[in-house]
Amino acid sequence: MGIQAWEARQVPSPGVAAARKPEASSGSSERLEVSRLDFDALRERVAGCQACALHKSRTQTVFGTGNPDADWMIVGEAPGAEEDRQGEPFVGRAGLLLNAMLEAAGYARADVYIANILKCRPPGNRDPKSEEADCCTPYLYRQIELVQPKLIVCVGRVAAQRLLKTDAPLGRLRGRVHRLDDMDFPVIATYHPAYLLRQPRDKRKAWQDLRLALEVSGKSPS
Ligand code: URA
Repeated sequence: MGIQAWEARQVPSPGVAAARKPEASSGSSERLEVSRLDFDALRERVAGCQACALHKSRTQTVFGTGNPDADWMIVGEAPGAEEDRQGEPFVGRAGLLLNAMLEAAGYARADVYIANILKCRPPGNRDPKSEEADCCTPYLYRQIELVQPKLIVCVGRVAAQRLLKTDAPLGRLRGRVHRLDDMDFPVIATYHPAYLLRQPRDKRKAWQDLRLALEVSGKSPS
């Protein structure tokens, strides 16, 4: 497909949550606790999670979706209203653009694994609080361990700052390859599709990021 198809894509747009400050912790005791769970057990654990206050306002948890043997793992911020309703990440307007971006890179949505930092929707799509991310990150780390992706693609500042444990702005994080601390997976950061819906001129830069992602995972960009 290539960039042209999604560059031109316009989806009518209500607002999207902005970024928040990252937290250094990735919840090491919780990581130990979930470190032996397989996908089914982990999904069940997440579905019953009451570790933070978000369980009170969620319709359901949004665990993750896609190929458990994926080359690429896409990590977003948190479910929005539509994701909370359907129980699947990136099914709203931003998800449509994410699908088009993946397609441009030669991947169907079902080829990759998609998850978020938070498994529950923050009310009103506000930024995740650091204590919420602390509670939830161990689930994401276990998902990463289970998928063993060749590459993690963080979409948006919140996911990038959280996984890379930094305050640096997204503009400084994109365009190069990072490592996921002790797990040593390559990570790249790019713009959140919701941001790209508001700032379509940055789609060119997002395409550069996807080309880098293809290189890192041993595929040649078309
Ligand atoms: N934005 C995200 O970061 N994740 C979703 O699942 C939906 C929108």
